[in-house]
Amino acid sequence: MVVVKANEIQAQLQQWVEECLPWAEKGETAGYIPALDKVPRDILGVAICDLEGNVVEAGDSDFEFSLQSISKVFTLLLALEDHGPEVVFNRVGMEPTGDPFNSIAKLEYLRPNKPLNPMINAGAIAVCDLIKGNNIEEKFDRIRNLVRKLANNPHIDLDQKVYFSEKQTGHRNRSLAYFLKDVDRLDGDVEDTLDIYFKQCALTVCCRDLAYMGAVIANGGKLLETGEQVVRPEYCRMAKAFMVTCGFYNGSGQFAVEVGIPAKSGVSGGILSSIPGRMGIGVVGPALDDKGNSLSGEMLLAKMARHWNLSIFV
Ligand code: GLU
Repeated sequence: MVVVKANEIQAQLQQWVEECLPWAEKGETAGYIPALDKVPRDILGVAICDLEGNVVEAGDSDFEFSLQSISKVFTLLLALEDHGPEVVFNRVGMEPTGDPFNSIAKLEYLRPNKPLNPMINAGAIAVCDLIKGNNIEEKFDRIRNLVRKLANNPHIDLDQKVYFSEKQTGHRNRSLAYFLKDVDRLDGDVEDTLDIYFKQCALTVCCRDLAYMGAVIANGGKLLETGEQVVRPEYCRMAKAFMVTCGFYNGSGQFAVEVGIPAKSGVSGGILSSIPGRMGIGVVGPALDDKGNSLSGEMLLAKMARHWNLSIFV
């Protein structure tokens, strides 16, 4: 990995970071997870990584944050590798919901009672239940190893405070999981599955890690330096499709129109973007809009997409 700091792209990114940071004042941190409520709002960082592994960073790019919903992309990839699409999409659908990320509404009245997609909480919990392993430690280890490998960073680990905070207060996720068990959409023990889900959400990264992961997905699942095929290209293609249709929850349509790149947000304020055949982008800005997406992060991506013609809908 070559980290380029002082060049024109870096100066341009730094200027855009400064222009977009004030948007953070209009947002709120994810107070429903107590550990995330304590994070400062006035942070904005970005890293971009091309398919050769060249990285450029600006702003608070070293700031560390938990993956939260971004982890759903990686458990989806692992579940697809473990079982193939038929089993995975028997468990979760492929359609956007138009609902908030933690909504239970459609789970009850749609038939069959299957989460509409793997990017909402109910869908991600159902996918988590599919991860192979003899016990919860082994299953979580496999998720962490995939994340480490895709990020080219063997040090990525769990933020224990964030994990415990969510484990103690994740009543909504608990209710989604127990409902899924009731309608036979979970095979394993409900609390075990939730434990893996809370842990994957608490894996801690920086913008550089996200940018690198986005670039590997943009590269069809091949590691940038070694060319090792870690995830099949067709599964990376599916992940990018879900990022476009469901990556920003009930803000996905607007993000597709205004920015137009495959991206997945998390309530820590992180955004993973993967631009097919071009680059990965990692952004963090902890102040969120009312849909749970980083406000200044979205603004920054919109600027980058506009000036660099990044939209895939050319
Ligand atoms: N851990 C979070 C939750 O389950 C993830 C949600 C998100 O990042 O959007 O509520």
